[in-house]
Amino acid sequence: MDLLVKSRRMVLPEGVRPASLHVRDGRIAAVGRHDAALAGARLIDAGDDAVLPGLVDTHVHVNQPGRSEWEGYCTATEAAAAGGITTIVDMPLNSVPVTTTLRALREKQAALRGERISCDVALWGGVVPGNVAELEPMAQAGALGFKCFLIDSGIEEFRWVGEGDLRPAMRELARMGSTLLVHAEVQGPMREPRGDPRAYRTYLESRPRASENEAVALAARLCRETRARTHIVHHSSADALETVRSVRREGLPFSAETCPHYLFFAAEEIPDGRTEFKCAPPIRERDNREALWAALADGTLEMVVSDHSPCAPALKKLEQGRFDEAWGGISGLQLSLAVTFTEAAKRGRGLGEIARWMSEAPARLAGLSARKGALRAGCDADFVIFDPEASFTVDPARLRHRHKLTPYAGRELRGKVKQVFLRGEDALETPRGEELRR
Ligand SMILES: [Zn+2]
Repeated sequence: MDLLVKSRRMVLPEGVRPASLHVRDGRIAAVGRHDAALAGARLIDAGDDAVLPGLVDTHVHVNQPGRSEWEGYCTATEAAAAGGITTIVDMPLNSVPVTTTLRALREKQAALRGERISCDVALWGGVVPGNVAELEPMAQAGALGFKCFLIDSGIEEFRWVGEGDLRPAMRELARMGSTLLVHAEVQGPMREPRGDPRAYRTYLESRPRASENEAVALAARLCRETRARTHIVHHSSADALETVRSVRREGLPFSAETCPHYLFFAAEEIPDGRTEFKCAPPIRERDNREALWAALADGTLEMVVSDHSPCAPALKKLEQGRFDEAWGGISGLQLSLAVTFTEAAKRGRGLGEIARWMSEAPARLAGLSARKGALRAGCDADFVIFDPEASFTVDPARLRHRHKLTPYAGRELRGKVKQVFLRGEDALETPRGEELRR
């Protein structure tokens, strides 16, 4: 049956206005006037609630197969859908095997096929030393692009690359028309933690901005040289923004994302011993956070994606509270939209920007713009009914992540996801997610 969706705040690519969506066969057939009528169609009238395009989160660690006790496809996609995300792209680690060969990609695709999934899922591959010959076969089998580390990833079999490994890999990616994602920290400026290992400050000082600044500069230089499409993941250092700005001004295929936790928290407010706040690069100071907001506003940073990276709670070693010993990674997939909207609204940013940062730009990065990322005729009918005026307190028991440990526990957030649709059907009622390939 056809569907007619109405809202007085339809978040369209050209702006927020009263409008209707005509949905047929899971796609948006047309965008029309708010007073449109459609004989025989089922009507969903969102009233004053906003209708946003389903979010596309290109930075999620699902960890299946191999570490599904950390997170899995069933729980991750349910949490995503509950938070307004209708497409996730899974990182090539921390699953076992890591996704750095065609064979490993096939294993991940097989694991995915066996699960009930609530949103669409696509996969990134990885660049590690010596796997250049695997890149094209992985891309042909569906990998959307490839992530690398310039520093120890914490996972032994996902080795980091130096300039000498990266150059041939980037030449190959440029030839293939694929994309490189860079975890931009280098070892050089890192320091041994000095002082109380339970103090957040000790951890922050051990991973200084300089490490990111140097890494972003290296990625920029190699992008200029090879012309490979290059993307910086989880950008945190405000001091490296000028490099991003200048490379983009040259017209090179270079982009960067940041994450909700860098936009919400500030180092000064993180209590000592609270290792659920540990991630890399780290959450930095308040002034750094405000610079990231300014960079989103002026387009230097193009997108906000979650970097949902959970682990088994025991690995966070909360009893000891030592930042040097805890596993790093922030868990917050389901809260990504509300967290970002809460802070955006305080700074006068609206739903149009949220849709650009969290839906349109990530869909473009993933090469999925023909189907995802906008309320536009021809796209999948993925949309979110969202009440921007409602607020709620984060109750970890209501999170659908495999583990409920999150630094957002008890925080008051603005903006409530009321219902989420994937290809025109309630995403949570019947899991109907699919694997999307390049
Ligand atoms: Zn990550």
